[in-house]
Amino acid sequence: MRQAYLTAPRTIEWRDSTAPKPGPGEILVRVRAALTCGTDLKTYRRGHSKLQYGPFGHEASGDVIAIGKGVDRFAKSDAVMWVQTAPCGECDKCVRGFENLCDRLFDDIALGAYGDELLLPAKVVRQNVYKKPEKLSYIEAAFLEPFACVVHGWNVLRRADARKPLPSDVTIIGAGTIGLLHLIYAVRAGVNATVIARGDERRGLATSLGAKVVVDAEDVGAVEALAGSATAVIECAGTQETWTQAASLVRSGGRVLLFSGLPSGATAQFDAAKIHYGEIALLGAFHFTPADVREAYELLGRGGIDVKPLVSGVDKMDDLVSVFDRLDRREGYKFALVPNVLTTDGEALSWI
Ligand SMILES: [Zn+2]
Ligand SMILES: [Zn+2]
Repeated sequence: MRQAYLTAPRTIEWRDSTAPKPGPGEILVRVRAALTCGTDLKTYRRGHSKLQYGPFGHEASGDVIAIGKGVDRFAKSDAVMWVQTAPCGECDKCVRGFENLCDRLFDDIALGAYGDELLLPAKVVRQNVYKKPEKLSYIEAAFLEPFACVVHGWNVLRRADARKPLPSDVTIIGAGTIGLLHLIYAVRAGVNATVIARGDERRGLATSLGAKVVVDAEDVGAVEALAGSATAVIECAGTQETWTQAASLVRSGGRVLLFSGLPSGATAQFDAAKIHYGEIALLGAFHFTPADVREAYELLGRGGIDVKPLVSGVDKMDDLVSVFDRLDRREGYKFALVPNVLTTDGEALSWI
């Protein structure tokens, strides 16, 4: 099997190895679709504080080709979708219900989605692997991981207001893949969404995905006019300025979900009076719990969630290096990589 390794910033190497034999509780899958992700791009550019260099890629779906002892939920040739981590269930965070913050979350992580085959660890198989519904393509199924992050964010938001868990409206800052997934979730849940975005293409996409109002992030007056107007704000643009802006957009009693991460040590300024007298809630969100993954799986499987417009292009796995080169040059947001872009009839794959 071939496996892509990130060995240093901006350095991807393909390596050949023999496919591992699954141990107890593990399964081996053949990757049918993998997706690039903002986290992968960040890691590609400058490494990652929680992840080592090594097998690259984490969003994927595929077919089971071998199973280890004791696995009874899956059989050979099952089409499956998964996320790359699972909590230990025993540490202090897990016991308190914060499984997304588990001390051992990144031990035994299923990295290496950019490759022919991938071994899924036992704790992931036990908690975070699902059979792919037939109506989902492999590419759609590979959205399970980013969508689980988004579902987790909404669950944090919901828990912050016991009287009215689902806000009547939301303002989303940023229309990258994650911002648009939040929009898709909001539209599906019947929440009126305003999106603040840069670039005609992203604003057009936000409109076609159902945003009620779309505002140009560079139009200072239009953004300022939104001050204090939102019941909930979700920040997905990832700058100190947009973190601060998020709090200025929410109305009294509202909620702000600071979804994007900033580098460790970064600070953001907030108007103390607004937090105190306006009683606004500032919320963080990270990763997902197995319950979030299940919810994301059920929502995707139920239909009515169209993630296809979020795919910038479909390429052959062999073209991984050039795909990351394009992402690095800010061409496109999220690419799907598939073993072969031709169908068995020799026809070009449209996108699934
Ligand atoms: Zn991801
Ligand atoms: Zn734990």
